[in-house]
Amino acid sequence: VDQEGNISYKRVPSSKLMQSIQEGIRHSVGKLASEPERDVLFTDFENTEIVFHPEAGTKFTPAHNFGDFHFKTYAPIAFRHFREVFDISPEDYMMSICVEGLIEISNPGASGSLFYLTEDEMFIIKTVDHSEAGFLLKLLPQYYMNIVQNPRTLLPKFFGLYCYKAFGKNVRIIVMDNLLPRRIKYHHKFDLKGSTYNRFASEKEKEKAVPTLKDVDFLHLYADGIYLDNETYLQLMSLFKRDCLVLQSFKIMDYSLLLGIHNLDQDVRDEREGKETGVATESPNEEGSKGLGRTRSINRHRLAAMPRNNNPDTPPETELQGEEAFVRQQSAVSQMNDDELNALLLRANIDPNVTGGSLMARTKKGERLLIFIGIIDILQHWRLRKKLEHAFKSVIHDGSTISVCHPTAYAKRYQEFMAEKVFHPFAIAGNAFKLANI
Ligand code: ATP
Ligand code: CA
Ligand code: CA
Repeated sequence: VDQEGNISYKRVPSSKLMQSIQEGIRHSVGKLASEPERDVLFTDFENTEIVFHPEAGTKFTPAHNFGDFHFKTYAPIAFRHFREVFDISPEDYMMSICVEGLIEISNPGASGSLFYLTEDEMFIIKTVDHSEAGFLLKLLPQYYMNIVQNPRTLLPKFFGLYCYKAFGKNVRIIVMDNLLPRRIKYHHKFDLKGSTYNRFASEKEKEKAVPTLKDVDFLHLYADGIYLDNETYLQLMSLFKRDCLVLQSFKIMDYSLLLGIHNLDQDVRDEREGKETGVATESPNEEGSKGLGRTRSINRHRLAAMPRNNNPDTPPETELQGEEAFVRQQSAVSQMNDDELNALLLRANIDPNVTGGSLMARTKKGERLLIFIGIIDILQHWRLRKKLEHAFKSVIHDGSTISVCHPTAYAKRYQEFMAEKVFHPFAIAGNAFKLANI
């Protein structure tokens, strides 16, 4: 950030970077439309395509005023296939990213990555470094295997990997799914790793309207954990197990569970006290927040991907989409009838369309929660950065509590933390999931 408050990344002004990315993606997706549909080949994971976008324009690219740049698309056909699997049409992808301005969101992480959110909240664009981009490329075949074998995975959905080149700089970006629709008000938001060493939000972070809290904060605020109905609990744990196995096999670590919590009963209380409810309020701490006028349904594609039933007799969830999946999902996890739930959401001023990727949960006191979850930040390979740090830190601290350790130990600790500290099973007896006393 310079003295006039203009944000730049690798000395490329952020607004130019944003516009170039939009134009680069628009062109790349448009061009792909003329490529015939076909099966993904192994070579598709390695192909790249680079296009020059001079300000003056070319036969294929329009004139613009954000400086000459090259735009590289990695594995275009493979990512096109991923988008298809995740039910995102080229039109929607292009509309979401390229039509409206992108919203820059502040990054509580230490990496210095830039994050942009599309105006319709569907996608997050994150800048990644050279090694992370290279690692994702290496991961693609296995990633492909994973979404085929386990469509309900909680791993990030990657929709594209690109590189913007200008001023002698390379800015690599990934496009992924947004886990936390901003129209929901999060009473708490956590980034959990399963470690307590140094895992609490700074005072500065806590001043934000919706701070990103960490493991220690969670243990304070939710000492009793979060309750899921028994079946959902078991399914969620099995998803963690499967995802962690994949991550561990790639020697990946340092990933987090992103957990957004909306407390429906808190909402009702706030309403009584005349406070704002449901919809997130504009916060002075978050840059560039804008009115979100469009009513496109958000995150619908995540619906079918959430845990519901392991019973082999029922059809796989991926076949369920839209309304039906929504209804089945919500009723299965909440044991609450849909009218009841919809009435609740309405009262809390929440568009039921926005609750797509969420699960119903309870506090021990019986308060109803909508929780939004997903695994994030999976492009950290253990060998690349963390080995030294570990050797160093484990001399000082007991090896299991520090946040840097071996991928196998990391995965184990992560799963144990989720299964024992964060989530608890809740046997639904009688009216356990009935409305809480509020
Ligand atoms: P570091 O490496 O320092 O941990 P980072 O720059 O790699 O940070 P991430 O850990 O990927 O960043 O994400 C930082 C924060 O951004 C998360 O804690 C979360 O609040 C938000 N975030 C990241 N990915 C998503 C997503 N897919 N949907 C919603 N929010 C996200
Ligand atoms: Ca992180
Ligand atoms: Ca990171």
